[in-house]
Amino acid sequence: MTPPRTDPTAARDGIRSTTPRQVRPAAEGWTQKLDTDGRPLLQFASPKRGKPPEHLADFTPEQRAARLVELGMPAFRAKQIATHYFTHSTSDPAEMTDLPAANRAELVAGLLPPLLTELRRLETDKGDTIKFLWKLHDGALVESVLMRYPGRITLCISSQAGCGMNCPFCATGQAGLTRNLSTAEIVDQIVRANRVIADGQLGGKKKTDHSQERVSNIVFMGMGEPLANYARVMQAVRTMVAPAPDGLGMSARGITVSTVGLAPAIGKLAAEGIPVTFALSLHAPDDELRDELIPVNSRWKVDEVLDAARAYFDATKRRVSIEYALIKDMNDHGWRADLLGEKLNARGRGWVHVNPIPLNPTPGSIWTASEPEVQREFVRRLEAMGVPTTIRDTRGKEIDGACGQLAAADEDAPA
Ligand code: SAH
Repeated sequence: MTPPRTDPTAARDGIRSTTPRQVRPAAEGWTQKLDTDGRPLLQFASPKRGKPPEHLADFTPEQRAARLVELGMPAFRAKQIATHYFTHSTSDPAEMTDLPAANRAELVAGLLPPLLTELRRLETDKGDTIKFLWKLHDGALVESVLMRYPGRITLCISSQAGCGMNCPFCATGQAGLTRNLSTAEIVDQIVRANRVIADGQLGGKKKTDHSQERVSNIVFMGMGEPLANYARVMQAVRTMVAPAPDGLGMSARGITVSTVGLAPAIGKLAAEGIPVTFALSLHAPDDELRDELIPVNSRWKVDEVLDAARAYFDATKRRVSIEYALIKDMNDHGWRADLLGEKLNARGRGWVHVNPIPLNPTPGSIWTASEPEVQREFVRRLEAMGVPTTIRDTRGKEIDGACGQLAAADEDAPA
């Protein structure tokens, strides 16, 4: 006989009943956009706006060489310019003395036009976390967050300005989709961060360490749904992993693509032959709650996205991450940890790990993070079922390190 499922939240709240409290994801101080059927609006198509300027990083190495020839230059100049940009993180013609002086400025302006204007920079006390707010050519805003960890430097990047997935607990989701980023706008976030590191502006480096440092890990956990901007995101990933001088020479396993769960695109990603780390933002193991927390669940249900995640593991042998924001009394019930463990184990062992993260409440949010003992209980239950589980670090919380909050604050601020 299975023992009755009791819930730690009930004990905490002094409730004698074994029925845990259930808060529903109705947002306060914000009206969720609905479609004509009254369901949360999902925006897959990018609104048409003026195109960002074309940039070297939008092109494949072959296209770059062809472009140089069109401009009446020898093809090898493409590799020289790419080396300056990807390896030396510069777009400044003055630093490119190997290019003919006569039309150097004009050539560089055409191939490496400015894409991101730094509007604001927020740093933690130690300076080992920096959050950037960038303005794009058309005034759209995006963020990236640079974080030093022991042995690695991670950059959290945006794939879209805003997001069309309408998740009620996410600051970016609340703002809707402005537009897709171009490939070069995605890549340039990394090049700009590498420049900041090269200039010694990221804190936390040991005085005795004189190594040349660069961003080693990428997480697509900034603004946007990467799989809704699939072609540009994939071209950016190809450039990240391309060895110098064609790209940034990064390792695919250090790149994490995080998604709400667009099942067909997960299948496409698995077939790319680039073994990036795959993260699924699940946040609830039951369709009833996930339909509300992650509106795209109306298209692709929990079981379908978990099957797609397992197929990703089969194709790449890369262990999948399940993201789970723990929201007090909403999705943190013990029975949900058990159900999650059951659903993961039903698809085999050793293919997945769970990353719960305490909710980082958006301004004015009625929801808060789960209590520490509830978090621990959630982890304990998963581990008891043999599912590796690690609470994710909430680095940069004091600078609104997560989830589109800086751009949201700027849009709310008087001009
Ligand atoms: N659209 C993609 C990637 C961007 S969001 C995705 O959903 O996966 C990156 C991660 O941050 C996701 O797991 C998302 O659910 C989570 N997230 C969003 N808002 C959050 C919040 N307020 N607190 C904690 N995590 C949040």
